[in-house]
Amino acid sequence: MQAIVKAQRAPGLTVSTVPKPVAGPGEVLIRVRHAGVCGTDLHIADWDAWAQGRISPPLVVGHEFAGEVAALGPGVTEFQVGQLVTAEGHIICGHCQACRTGNGHICKNTRIIGVDRDGAFAEFIAMPATNVMTLDGIPTEIGAIMDPMGNAFHAVLSADIPGSTVFIVGCGPIGCFAVGIARAAGAAKVIASDVNPNRLALAKKMGAHVVINAAKDDVVRTVLAETGGEGVDVVCEMSGVPAALHQAFATIRMGGRVQLLGLPKGEVSVDFASEIIFKGITLYGVIGRKMYETWHQMRRFLSSGLLDPRPVITHRFPLAKIDDALAAIRSGDAGKVILEIA
Ligand code: ZN
Repeated sequence: MQAIVKAQRAPGLTVSTVPKPVAGPGEVLIRVRHAGVCGTDLHIADWDAWAQGRISPPLVVGHEFAGEVAALGPGVTEFQVGQLVTAEGHIICGHCQACRTGNGHICKNTRIIGVDRDGAFAEFIAMPATNVMTLDGIPTEIGAIMDPMGNAFHAVLSADIPGSTVFIVGCGPIGCFAVGIARAAGAAKVIASDVNPNRLALAKKMGAHVVINAAKDDVVRTVLAETGGEGVDVVCEMSGVPAALHQAFATIRMGGRVQLLGLPKGEVSVDFASEIIFKGITLYGVIGRKMYETWHQMRRFLSSGLLDPRPVITHRFPLAKIDDALAAIRSGDAGKVILEIA
C-alpha cells in the first residue's frame, strides 16, 4: 500500500510502498479515507529535537484519520465491515492507576500512532478495537479531525460554559474549534485573539462575538472592557506564547478557570502570587481527549448538527502531496489541512 514514511533520521518525509497491515487479535483494519495533518507531523518531518528524541524510523506517520472498516481481527464482534469509523490515536495500557480511575488520557504508558507505532497517512491502518469509534452519520472528512477537535472539546467542556464569558487565546485550528464549541455549549460571550488576520476571520466565522488582533490591539484592555471590567469566566490558552499566557492571567476574573493547551517552547516565568494565587484561579492542563467521555460528547455535538467544524478545513491534498500540505501549515495562514486518501 501507499504510505507516507519517516524513512531516516534526517529531515523530510517519503511517499513509499509498504506492506499492508493485518488486523491482529482484538484489532480492526481500517481503509483510511481522510487524514488530518498536524503540527506534530511537521515536527517529525523537520526532524527537530523532540522528533530526534522520540521517533524511531522507519515509521508510517499521521495520527488523525477516519475511514471504513475493512476487516476484523480475531475476537472483534462489535464492528462490521463497511462501517465508517474514526479512532483515538492514543493507545493506553488499561492497567495503570490513571487508566483504572477513568483518566486514560494521562496514562504514562501511552503509545501514539504515527509517533510510537505506524500511523494513518496510509491506505490502511490496524487499530485496537477499544480505540475505534463509529461515526454515526458524521462524514469521514469531519471524522478525520475529531482527534484535534477532541482536544478543543476537552478544553472547553471541562469548564462551566453555559452563560459564561469565554476568551480563546490563539486561533489555530484547535482555537477555532474551541470558539465553535463554546458557542454551541451556550457561552454568553466568546472573545478570541490571534496575531493573524486570516485566523481571526476564521474565528469570527466559527461564531466569535469579538476578535482581537493581538499584534495591534491592547488585548487585556479590550477583554476587560467587554466584560464590564471583571474579566472572563473561562480562558482557553491555545497558543503557548509567553506574552499570551500573561494575557490569559490578566484577563481571567477572580476565581476563574484557565485551560492550558498551547505548548510553550521553553520555560515561562510566572508571578505565582499576583497572576494565580491572589486571584484564586484554577489552572487545568489539557492533554489529549478524555477516554471516552470527550468522544461521546463530541460525536453527539457533531451528529446532531450542534457544531459544524467544516469552515476550519481550509486545505485538501492527495496523499502524495504531503510536502504541499506541510507547507500550508508552515505558512501560518491555514486552518485545518487534510489529506484525501480514498
Ligand atoms: Zn495506563
